[in-house]
Amino acid sequence: KETEEKFQFQTEVSRLMNLIINSLYKTREIFLRELISNASDAIDKIRFLALTDPNALSNNSNLNITIWSDPKNNILTITDTGIGMTKEQLKENLGTIAKSGTSEFLQTIEEKKSDDNMNLIGQFGVGFYSVFLVADKVIVTTKHNDDEQYIWESQAINDFTIAKDPRGNTLGRGTQIKLHLKEDSLSFLEEGVIREEKPKKKTKTVEVPGWELMNTQKPIWTRDPKNVSDPEYENFYKSFAKDDAAPLAWTHFKAEGEVDFKSIIYIPSKAPPNLYQKVQEFTRNIKFFVKRVFITDEFLDFVPKYLAFIKAIIDADDIPLNVSRETLQHHKALQLIKKRIIKKTLDMIMNLSKDEEKYQKFLKEFGVSLKIGAIEDNTNRKILAKLLRFPSSHKNWTTLDDYIGRMKKKQTKMYFVTGSSVSELESSPFIEGYIARGYEVLYMVEPVDEVLIQHMPGHGGKMFQNIAKGDSKLDSDLEETTKLKSKYIKLIDWMQTSLSDFVERVQISNRLTSSPCAVIAGDWGLTGHMERIMAAQAF
Ligand code: ADP
Ligand code: MG
Repeated sequence: KETEEKFQFQTEVSRLMNLIINSLYKTREIFLRELISNASDAIDKIRFLALTDPNALSNNSNLNITIWSDPKNNILTITDTGIGMTKEQLKENLGTIAKSGTSEFLQTIEEKKSDDNMNLIGQFGVGFYSVFLVADKVIVTTKHNDDEQYIWESQAINDFTIAKDPRGNTLGRGTQIKLHLKEDSLSFLEEGVIREEKPKKKTKTVEVPGWELMNTQKPIWTRDPKNVSDPEYENFYKSFAKDDAAPLAWTHFKAEGEVDFKSIIYIPSKAPPNLYQKVQEFTRNIKFFVKRVFITDEFLDFVPKYLAFIKAIIDADDIPLNVSRETLQHHKALQLIKKRIIKKTLDMIMNLSKDEEKYQKFLKEFGVSLKIGAIEDNTNRKILAKLLRFPSSHKNWTTLDDYIGRMKKKQTKMYFVTGSSVSELESSPFIEGYIARGYEVLYMVEPVDEVLIQHMPGHGGKMFQNIAKGDSKLDSDLEETTKLKSKYIKLIDWMQTSLSDFVERVQISNRLTSSPCAVIAGDWGLTGHMERIMAAQAF
């Protein structure tokens, strides 16, 4: 190969490979899923191109993925007739990592050598480089419509070579990946093992004569939900969402009326790391199809931030096939679809809340999301409020409606206190008088709760009352209070004077039963808890 050139992997790539090889050994079968998913993406891309460019398929009109095993030479070959790569793309795609934040991400993982790493790396989507889990030599041959056929070759870690293929453009178009398997991975040459791994993927077919057609099924979302089994939904999720864990819940429906589309929405079983920070990067959680042709998954805000954790397939009928990503964003059908997706997701969560055990799992991962929703989503605040759960002096968890159902006759407000843990609040002097008189107090222990109350000051016709603020709202025995006031007037005066730099007012109250005194915020002041949160965040 006269034209052979040698290149170094970008250092992040070498680091990622090291991590993959050291931490993903036990799940090394993921390489096959990654390669098939890449092949499938490549086919989507050329098919998309062919919508507007009739010549795109002229070098090869078949769209398929084939897997070939050669047990004599210990080689596994995956070939697709997708878009292929030019020489420049080959160098870029299989030599660098384009994702922003990669370096920081790698550093976090390298430092934190915990069991969670595997999970983190899995979430990152290790991609092509996972081939080195099973192969010690990898040869990628590829032909793109805009370039000649090239060969990329590497034995991992440090460098790779690229050369023009001396055999000419034998592929027509597409990519062939030859894996020279390591001794410990030879089982992947067995047909059964490969079949196990093959995801039941959308519309791709393997249709070389004599080869077996692996996915004759219609795309899962176009089928009648009655005929799709739970394992089928779960496997489909795992392959399209690149998640090893089964989803927590899903809903599969066909929307008709204002706008027609089919969709499956999934809730993952785990929240991704930094769920609430990611805004600038595509999460690729929403895969958008028009009449079964993949259009895009590059949305920044398909659903509001608080629902950013859902993963969904959407297949619309009312949008022209040749819509571009840019015009799609402004298409009016898209706005209607977004609304329906939000509604359907909330319905699904409402359904999930009927299963106490599953719902607790959900809240552990996404409970904060619902509160952010109740803060930000004016339209759906009422529904979101019904989905919230709080610990209280009465129960481990209660809905607001149940709390209201248990309110005492004369109680007009929903009592709550804020703090950093239930145990802290249980021994808080603020609640003594209330508990002693048989009132139930909600414990708000998440940082987001104070903000939530500001935006959602009530629910079901009842307002919230922070009992750590302002005058005690307990019914008082006027005569007794007056007596106490005259008895302690000197003490109060003395305290008022000596503490004048620190407190606004000192007063007699029936709020306490066993504690001698408590520091209370004014009705419009910040509670001690909120002050601590704000100090921590340096607002
Ligand atoms: P990702 O798929 O998340 O982008 P990968 O590491 O799996 O990351 O792949 C890197 C890039 O290499 C892809 O984005 C794609 O551009 C290119 N690539 C990988 N496999 C193929 C293939 N079979 N055909 C065409 N391009 C490919
Ligand atoms: Mg990939």
